[in-house]
Formats: sequence, C-alpha cells, structure tokens
Amino acid sequence: MTKEKKRLKVANPHIDYDTVWTYAPAPESTDHIHLKRRYELFINGEFVPPVKGKYFATVNPATEEKLAEVPEATGEDIDKAVAAARSAFEKVWSPMPPAERGKYIYRIARLLQERAREFAVIESLDGGKPIRESRDIDIPLAAAHFFYYAGWADKLEYAFPGRKTRPLGVAGQIIPWNFPLLMAAWKIAPALATGNTVVLKTAETTPLTAMKLAELFQDAELPPGVVNIVTGGGKTGQMIVNHPDVDKIAFTGSTEVGKYIRKALAGTGKRYTLELGGKAANIIFEDAAVDQAVEGIINGIFFNQGHVCCAGSRLYVQESIAPEILRKLKDRIATLIVGDPLDKNTDIGAINSRMQLEKIESYVRIGKEEGGAIFQPPCKLPAKGYWHPPTLFTDVSQSHRIVQEEIFGPVLPIQTFRTVDEVITKANNTPYGLSGGVWTDKGAKIFKVTKQIRAGVVWANTYNKFDPTSPFGGYKESGLGREGGLQGLLPYVELV
Ligand code: NAP
Ligand code: MG
Repeated sequence: MTKEKKRLKVANPHIDYDTVWTYAPAPESTDHIHLKRRYELFINGEFVPPVKGKYFATVNPATEEKLAEVPEATGEDIDKAVAAARSAFEKVWSPMPPAERGKYIYRIARLLQERAREFAVIESLDGGKPIRESRDIDIPLAAAHFFYYAGWADKLEYAFPGRKTRPLGVAGQIIPWNFPLLMAAWKIAPALATGNTVVLKTAETTPLTAMKLAELFQDAELPPGVVNIVTGGGKTGQMIVNHPDVDKIAFTGSTEVGKYIRKALAGTGKRYTLELGGKAANIIFEDAAVDQAVEGIINGIFFNQGHVCCAGSRLYVQESIAPEILRKLKDRIATLIVGDPLDKNTDIGAINSRMQLEKIESYVRIGKEEGGAIFQPPCKLPAKGYWHPPTLFTDVSQSHRIVQEEIFGPVLPIQTFRTVDEVITKANNTPYGLSGGVWTDKGAKIFKVTKQIRAGVVWANTYNKFDPTSPFGGYKESGLGREGGLQGLLPYVELV
C-alpha cells in the first residue's frame, strides 16, 4: 500500500479505497459505428481525393490504434475549396432568402440530434475524451449551436436594429483538437446563418467527427460548396489564412499560432477572430460552500483531461480554509477514474496525443524542479495509450512556470491568499484573460471580483458552463472577438 493510500485510509476509515471505486466495466458499444478506412476532402458537396495524393493516419489515443486515413490538403486543394465556397456564396447561399437558409441549419441541427450517439462515440474514439462528456456535452451543445443560429438567420434586423447586414463572403475556419465537433459548430453555424460560406480545417489528430458532419451535410442536401471541409496540418491552415480569396478567418487554437495569424493578416483587410489560450484563476473564498466548490474545482481542471482553454488551471484558496480544501481535493481526486474513454464511469480519459502527453509531463518535471510539492493519487494507468493522472501542486508562487504557462492537461497549481484585493491582483497577473471562477456565499463579493477580473467569462459558484446564447472569448493574449450569442453574429457581417 502506498503512503498516500495509507493516509487516505486513516483520514477516511469508512471508505475502502481498494474496492469502493472499482466499478464493473460499462463500455459504450461501438457496433453501430461505421468508419471508412480512408476519408477524402469534402469540396463542393463531394468527397474528392487530394491533388497530391497524400494521406495521414488518425489514431485512437486510448489504444494507439489507427482509426482511419485522411488527406493532407495542399495548395491546389485549398484553391478548389475556396473557389467552391466563392461560387456557392455568389450563386446560391447569399442570394437565398434568409428563412430558407435557416431551414437548412435547422435540418443540420435535427440530423445531428438523431445521430448524437454515433457522433459521441466517434468523438471519444478519435480524441480520447470520456463518453460521458462527448455524449452529454459536446454533441448536444453542437446541435444547440446550430438550432440557436438557425433562429437568427431570418431575424438579423432584430440583432442589429436599424442596420442592414451584408455577409462577408468566404470564411476560412481553423479549429483545434479539444472539442472537434463543438468547435466546428461554433464556427459553421453563425457563418451560415449570416449568409457566408465556409472552408474549415480540422486539427490533425481529430478529423473524424468533421468528416461525419460532411456526410450529414450531404444528407441535409446543403447546397454544394456552402461548407467545404479539409484536413491537414499547420501548413494547410497557413494556406487558408494566406489565401487571397478568403474574406474572414476564424481561428481557435494556441496563442503562438494566433500571433502568427495576426501578423500574416496585417494589412490584408481580411476580418478575423482569434480564440486562444488561457490560464484561468479559480478562487475559493472562506465563505464558500466548501464541498460544492471542491466539486467545481475538480470539474474546472480535470474535465476533458484539462484540454480546455478556459479550464480553471490556477487555484487560489483563502488561507483560513486552505488545509480543509486541500484535504478534500486530495480525497476527491483519489476517487477519479482514469481509463477507457468509452466506459461510462470514466472521469478522465486519454490525453489527446503523444505530443500533448509529453508537453504535460515536461511541465510536471518543471514544477518539481522549481520546488513545487506534487500530489498524485494512487492510480493504475492502462499499459497502452496516452494517460496522465490527476495532479496537484502546492508550494508554488506566481513566478512559477506552471502558474504562468498554459499546460492544457490535468495539472493544478494551488496557492493561498488573504484579501480580496490580493487575489484579484494575482488572478490578473497573467498574459491571458479567457475565463475565471469565483466561489463565495456573498453576492457583493461576486460582483466586485467578477468585475475586476480581466477575462471574457467569469463563472460564479459554478464552472465550465456553456450555452449557445452567451458570448465567449478572451482579453489580452487569449484572443480577439467573441463567438456565441448575439455577439457571435457580428464577426460575420458588415453593417450597412
Ligand atoms: P494549435 O497548434 O494552435 O492548432 C490549432 C489549429 O491551427 C489546428 O487545426 C492546427 O493544425 C492549426 N495550425 C497550426 N499551425 C498553424 C499555422 N501556422 N497557421 C494556421 N493554422 C495552423 O493549437 P492546438 O494545440 O491544436 O490546440 C490547443 C490550443 O487551443 C490551446 O492553447 C487552447 O487554449 C486553445 N483553445 C482555445 C479555445 C478558445 O476558445 N479560446 C478553444 C479551444 C482551444 P494541426 O492540428 O494540424 O497542427
Ligand atoms: Mg485521433
């Protein structure tokens, strides 16, 4: 028995840590999943092979098995996709009466709901996230986004009273691997509702739900060229960014690539929105409902293996309750189940890729080298695949790299504070400003703190809650522009 397990047993004699959290396996069936061996580019309503004939594999990060092959799109393919989008924009989509556009988007939303199970399983297979999340969060929210923006299609004059809107044209959209289908929905739905057409590039490690979405567009009889979906790496993304006939870029990904895109677009007249990294402060005051806060902190950082731009990835606890919070956090993470993403009991699935796992491991090394005290619960990781146990760090300060830099994994550095002003200063002491969280019993404190934290979203007594009606986006190096809600329409229109 490890020392930690012994400590847990002494702390909680009523819990048998050897057996209590070992459930029988409850894997979601994959019988109904039909993946092709090879997918093609979705251009002008059809699946077409890449001009240069190059493909790469996408693997299941929980097993390291190859799931399928997808094309690496090159310049000629991007030219074709942009030309298809341009032609569809001019001839079909922008002249179409807005209410008719809305009907297509509603149809997409309904089909997605009907096939939710299939999409959820594929999302978990390709990306490693627990099925409970893809089933209950990613796919329903993706459908909700299409429903929400379908509703706006013929009501834009109410969104911008007294103004008329004109679509921009062809939108180039580039998405990351942490919420593949959801990010596609965030980007495609408002673009279509406002009359634009799309060329979307998926992330290298998670192309499959977007390929399925392309099949769904065919079933929805979306006119050819309105949405084109290409696969490929960073170079493919660059070609979309630099294409002269693209009118707008919508990018979600790292701050590093976001900076590159901003430079590349300077002076081109192209519009753009950037949703980038984050390092959110989650703050617990001594008057908070402690158990609720602990659960929220766990959800804030371990949800989706910490692969969340708005994850609560820095914890600040008021000094008087720090020992209690720390004990409860340790006890709670000892019960988290790490393993098969398809198992309905799993809390923490597979890390998305070997590269991301190595990045997380290197940050854990840095945390230790810089003098942080690490806590990892006893936890057996599967032999194959990419896994990381939930990890806490104490004895860290603002200057530690694991406090300043985005790890994008299940690693939480914890600090204490004494006063409200002190914690606001610490929370804002970061180049990022995407999100934050406050846990307190006092409404006045919620207003004071949320007003002073420089971040796009600040949750109070909850965390990681999303809704298509509320805008999302960052301050400072977390990005530019908003997605979601009424505000999410603006980046896709010219007001006249
Ligand atoms: P990334 O490396 O920036 O990649 C994002 C997307 O950009 C991928 O499709 C990537 O292709 C592509 N790309 C890479 N280099 C490019 C270039 N030079 N030009 C154009 N496109 C390029 O980010 P990631 O590692 O996939 O995703 C994690 C990051 O996204 C984190 O920093 C996270 O905080 C951020 N994120 C932010 C939000 C938000 O809403 N603010 C949401 C989710 C994630 P490949 O995949 O093929 O490299
Ligand atoms: Mg994959």
